[in-house]
Amino acid sequence: MKSAITSFFTLLLMCSGSIPANAGGPLVIGGPKFGIAGQPFTWDPAKMPIQYRVDPGPMAVTSSGTVVIDNPTGLQRVQNMFGVWQAVSTAAISYSNAGPLLPSGSYTGGDLNSVPQFNDIVGSCKSGTQNPVVFDANGQIMSALGLPPEVIGFTSGCAVDASTGHLTGALILMNGKFQDGISTPTSSPPNYELTANEFDEAITHEIGHFSGLGHSQINIDLLLDFNSSGACDQDRHAGLPLMFPELFCPARKDSGLPPLSADDVSAISSLYPSGSFASNYGTISGRIYFSDGVSQFQGANVIARVVDDPRTATDESRRIAVSAISGYLFTGNPGQSFTASMPDPNENNTAGDLTGSRDSSLIGYYQIAVPPGTYTVEVESIFDQFVSDSGIGPLSPPVLLAGPNEFWDKNESAFDYAAQRDTITVNPGDKITGIDIILNGTKPQFDQYEDSGELFDSPLASPLKMAEVGG
Ligand SMILES: [Zn+2]
Repeated sequence: MKSAITSFFTLLLMCSGSIPANAGGPLVIGGPKFGIAGQPFTWDPAKMPIQYRVDPGPMAVTSSGTVVIDNPTGLQRVQNMFGVWQAVSTAAISYSNAGPLLPSGSYTGGDLNSVPQFNDIVGSCKSGTQNPVVFDANGQIMSALGLPPEVIGFTSGCAVDASTGHLTGALILMNGKFQDGISTPTSSPPNYELTANEFDEAITHEIGHFSGLGHSQINIDLLLDFNSSGACDQDRHAGLPLMFPELFCPARKDSGLPPLSADDVSAISSLYPSGSFASNYGTISGRIYFSDGVSQFQGANVIARVVDDPRTATDESRRIAVSAISGYLFTGNPGQSFTASMPDPNENNTAGDLTGSRDSSLIGYYQIAVPPGTYTVEVESIFDQFVSDSGIGPLSPPVLLAGPNEFWDKNESAFDYAAQRDTITVNPGDKITGIDIILNGTKPQFDQYEDSGELFDSPLASPLKMAEVGG
């Protein structure tokens, strides 16, 4: 059975997506009746390379029709963008250009330049006929679809095989207006311009979604500092995932950085492990708990960072870090029948989301694949502005934790110091389990362990507080 999943979009400064899915690492997690419960949707590894087809028109033209980036140049750039992911040696994912777009309905070939043609091409994607890459050379399709001029491009997951848990159709549309050589950001409507490397980086992020990756968060403080200083320091920029929900630093290529961060390389390798994955990675896994130490906590961002080598000028702890969301394999909405059993099928939430496992042992579970090294593990909130389309993990809005990031230590309790940390050494092939963090000072929750007694009475004056629980 094939099911359609709706589009997800990238904004100029905010990447957005709305699919019935968990994100954070993998984009879509199987549910009880949708793919394989608790397993990420991927393209079928037995059917590599993934074949895409490209619009034979120009990549960018001015509003008066002058070609700025012709088709051969655009094709080469598209191939290079897919090549960024394909070049990851520990990932067995590959792509190939199968030729120009196949005709479908009102689209009979040549430059795709109208919404009816686009809709017919979407139809062919939903039926699994082709995975289109469309050049919206002057941004008119984007505009006619009602999208704001800040949208650089978008990926649409068109089709999945709900029995096998495989992605079977996806589409990318890119807005050539960002490459038309005209920058009038204050005109109405505005015409934004990006450097070629910035534009290609944004679309490469989209190809991450196309490949089945969700967003991830590392070095969030860089975004906050950038908003006040406009600067991106090299250490934190290096560790900033390409799959971060917002694009705000200069292009990684222009900053002398490799195209993907350690987090991106780990994420794509975990989804599509190649033969060399096991000899180049180990895993750290565990569970995040409420302060009661038994109730699992979903939706926390868990980051494994390499311990800084003080002999080098660079800060490895900022550069080499990999993240996962606690409960990323569990559904964000398990459903409930008490108040949600409605006659209207669109309002009936009895069964909850299509996606995500219902195995309660996974509610607070995380697993992070890391290159060999010595690591600390810490937990933090997802940034509160990363919601819905820009969301990370199964919960939107995210769950918020007040206070500093809390590190794992050997004597985890609800009353340890947040900064207390122990290190974990990972060798190739290691599967290190039980790296559990008990959050300090969360409010108690009603759960299956509920009893009439007080759970904990924190001895600290101002412990971390659960500020909000979203769902
Ligand atoms: Zn995105």
